[in-house]
Amino acid sequence: MRVYLDNNATSIVDPHVFEAMEPFFVKKYGNPSSLHQFASDTHKPLKEAMQKIYAGINAKSEDSVVITSCATESNNWVLKSIYFEYILTGRKNHIIVSEVEHPSIIATAKFLESKGCKVTYLPINSEGIVEAHTVRDFITDKTALVSIMWVNNETGAIFPIEEIGEICAAKGVLFHTDAVQAIGKLPVNVQKANIDYLTMSAHKFHGPKGVGALYMKKGKELTPLLHGGSQMNGFRSGTLNVAGIVGMGKAMEQAIDALDFEMSEVKELRDRLEDALLEIPDTFVVTPRAKRAANTILISFRGIEGEAMLWDLNRANIAASTGSACASEDLESNPVMEAIGAEADLAHTAIRFSLSRYTTGEEIDYTIEVVKNAVDRLRAISSSYAYAPEGHESKL
Ligand code: PLP
Repeated sequence: MRVYLDNNATSIVDPHVFEAMEPFFVKKYGNPSSLHQFASDTHKPLKEAMQKIYAGINAKSEDSVVITSCATESNNWVLKSIYFEYILTGRKNHIIVSEVEHPSIIATAKFLESKGCKVTYLPINSEGIVEAHTVRDFITDKTALVSIMWVNNETGAIFPIEEIGEICAAKGVLFHTDAVQAIGKLPVNVQKANIDYLTMSAHKFHGPKGVGALYMKKGKELTPLLHGGSQMNGFRSGTLNVAGIVGMGKAMEQAIDALDFEMSEVKELRDRLEDALLEIPDTFVVTPRAKRAANTILISFRGIEGEAMLWDLNRANIAASTGSACASEDLESNPVMEAIGAEADLAHTAIRFSLSRYTTGEEIDYTIEVVKNAVDRLRAISSSYAYAPEGHESKL
């Protein structure tokens, strides 16, 4: 059996999405900007796909949803454009992000810091959540932007986006959320949450890789990052990724249809896995289930290096993760575990299991068996577990 429990890194393309995309490779391959039939073949499918994306996040028709190449681009665009418009011009000098944002926010914020922008990295609490009052505490009259993710990719922790949106609106500060891990996992409504900018990525909700989007509220449109053409109403130049956009639209439609299933059946499987793993002694989960997206578990097994566990899982054909996909090749400890202040030996032991609507009960039962065997094997040879002092208390 092969088991894929790394859906927060990327997800399988839904067969309906694949089917919807197929004609745009070898049949309807015209450039939408050209002036012939091959081009016009793409216009209606593109329009319908965009409507599905707008509907999926409850964007108004006068708002802008701009297709990008990935969430990394969307996140870079927001921060760099705010820098150009507000910081470089001297109108403001400060942005706020959380310390557990995806590297596409953190690294961009650090780059802007090197160019003179002040950045506040908000802490998370012991449950791995950014508390809304910290946003209020750090906003000054020089704050241009608050950028807080909706759902954390490591823990699945859901951040209080509606409250933060309200605070930003009341203070007159622009609000961006990276909703990459929220789409298809919980209801996302840009109106209800007072969101000015929202980042999405198709491959996290069973769409194709290489297609992202940025929502911009009417009146809050950003300066383009890519100049050179009139595509996407002039907000992003470059020939449209027709198949990708059609795929993203279909994936959004499917994700919205499957939302109840995700929040009930997928959650049930996640809970089954979690209950069984927590029966293992010296095992810890940071964020309470009720405050987490339904598909994610970040769990620590004291005394077992995350990479050693991954090795055993991989040998049994189970895919999981020790950190964000981009960082998983270096042996750094989990960034969220570090931010919580977990003891060093626990920060290295975190494993993320992320399920999807394609995960089955048999796969979960198999995973439970493999993990239990791996824990027995690895703890038997773990010097740090064997030598842990009697009654050693965890900070978690
Ligand atoms: N933001 C979050 C929260 C993510 O989890 C990821 C991917 O792991 C990204 C952004 C980057 O997404 P993309 O691969 O589309 O650039």
